[in-house]
Amino acid sequence: MCSIASLIEEGGFEPVCFEKTDKPGGTWCYRDEAVEGVASIMPTTIINHSKEMGALSNYPPLRECSNFMRHKELYQNAIEGAKDRDLLKYIQCNTEVISVNRAADYEQTGRWTVTVKNTISGVVTTDIYDGVLVCVGHINRPKMPLFPGQDSFKGQIIHTHSLRGVENYKNKTVIVVGMGCSGLDAAVEISNVAEQVYLSTRSGAHVLQRVGPHGYPYDYVLLRRCIFFWFDILPPNVVSWLLESLYLDPQFNHNIYAVKPTHHIFSKDPVINDHITSKLLSGSVKQKPNIQRFTEDGVIFEGDSEVTKADAVIMATGYTWKFPFLEEGIIVEEEAKISLYKCVFPINLKHPTLAVIGFVLPFGPGFPIGELQCRWATQVLAGKYNLPSKREMIKDINDRYKKNIARYAPSEKMSIRVDYIKYCDDIASQFGAKPNFFKIFLTDPRLFIHLIFGPSLPYQYRLQGPHSWDGAREAIMTSKARMLWPITKRNFDECDENVLVKIFKKVLRLVFY
Ligand SMILES: Cc1cc2nc3c(=O)[nH]c(=O)nc-3n(C[C@H](O)[C@H](O)[C@H](O)COP(=O)(O)OP(=O)(O)OC[C@H]3O[C@@H](n4cnc5c(N)ncnc54)[C@H](O)[C@@H]3O)c2cc1C
Repeated sequence: MCSIASLIEEGGFEPVCFEKTDKPGGTWCYRDEAVEGVASIMPTTIINHSKEMGALSNYPPLRECSNFMRHKELYQNAIEGAKDRDLLKYIQCNTEVISVNRAADYEQTGRWTVTVKNTISGVVTTDIYDGVLVCVGHINRPKMPLFPGQDSFKGQIIHTHSLRGVENYKNKTVIVVGMGCSGLDAAVEISNVAEQVYLSTRSGAHVLQRVGPHGYPYDYVLLRRCIFFWFDILPPNVVSWLLESLYLDPQFNHNIYAVKPTHHIFSKDPVINDHITSKLLSGSVKQKPNIQRFTEDGVIFEGDSEVTKADAVIMATGYTWKFPFLEEGIIVEEEAKISLYKCVFPINLKHPTLAVIGFVLPFGPGFPIGELQCRWATQVLAGKYNLPSKREMIKDINDRYKKNIARYAPSEKMSIRVDYIKYCDDIASQFGAKPNFFKIFLTDPRLFIHLIFGPSLPYQYRLQGPHSWDGAREAIMTSKARMLWPITKRNFDECDENVLVKIFKKVLRLVFY
């Protein structure tokens, strides 16, 4: 929907959006059954980023919206927003893209041949398009591990992609494998009804709660330029250590996990969960190391000699990526490097008329990143901005890879890991939408202070550049009021404490813990 909005905003395009399911909304459209190649959520899924941090750059959320929306509220908001902007008419549901190939005249025109199938009638049609934006997500093809003896297990084994309700696990013993966000969601939800849940993990994880200091959303507090600025002057491990020691450990010291994280917080995605720590304290979830092997009626964990009996095993072991409809050789992975310039443009094409949107793993909200990518791709499709030479693009991919390999634990999607603020700035600067901080410092010091010391909000990328928005400054200055409203139903100056009382409390905290 962001792609359609960007193309319409730019003008001169006639977007056609193909959606293979019967409804728009992608991940956030809840379905009772898992669909192959479509992301899945559980009935209880709540978004991991708060409404202000994940907003669209020219579309602040209503003050009444919850900060962390449940999937229904998020979906309704997305659909209402799309209706407001009259975007739904461009979407053709029940239409699966089955192939995207360079057209016969591609060398001269950069055009594409796209073949789609109506999933109800089965009718297949082919058309030629000037450009293609691939927005199919990448958290939708389950990765299933194979442990020794797994075939002999008599209980149920499923991937979280197919997990819906938890009723089937009432009074059962369940093993959840993997300590990412979906693993923790599964473990917490199932433990509400199960006899016992075991959470098996190879390398542990740093867990962030949605509730940050003072009841503010954690990302509203953490995702600030003044905090991420430390990455520019200190090694990532030092910044990680500071965040772990000053922010995370006072909530739940990582040394007291049964399986301690073997990495720093910024070396692997931290996971978001509000309840896992209390589940560990109550014993309803027990943390265990990796599975050594399966038996008929359970598993033996590494370091154990006896079998832990189990009725079901839920694999929360992540997803692999694939664009099955795309002409071969356009996106390739060589030595774990994916051939996309800034994770968006394939480097092997003569014309920049195909872009991939949302194929990143950010530490931060995905929506503003996706929107910036759409705006950049639109400007390139419109011929207003060019890509650099292939040599420069390869260098950019190699540089990101080198940085990532030094910082992250090896993984299949290593080359699409990005730091939120840096990456947003990088994409925005490709088409002139990165704020000019020096100019703002000189002309609008209040705004400058908000941009540097306040949360890094998406509206900042509408202060200048193509399709800048007059309301961007106001949206930045009023975000705290919208953030607090659904909780307090009061204006935020009425919620603020006297400065002296605040300082006194800070001193007390220093003395007592
Ligand atoms: C459980 C879960 C929780 C998540 N939580 C967060 C979060 O808190 N914050 C965040 O930023 N991101 C989160 N994500 C990532 C999520 O992918 C993004 O929020 C966002 O939905 C990505 O949007 P998208 O349009 O790129 O892809 P999707 O939402 O995956 O939509 C892709 C669409 O493409 C359609 N499609 C696929 N193949 C074809 C085809 N061949 N032809 C036609 N249509 C096709 C699919 O049906 C789907 O509707 C989460 C993902 C999951 C699975």
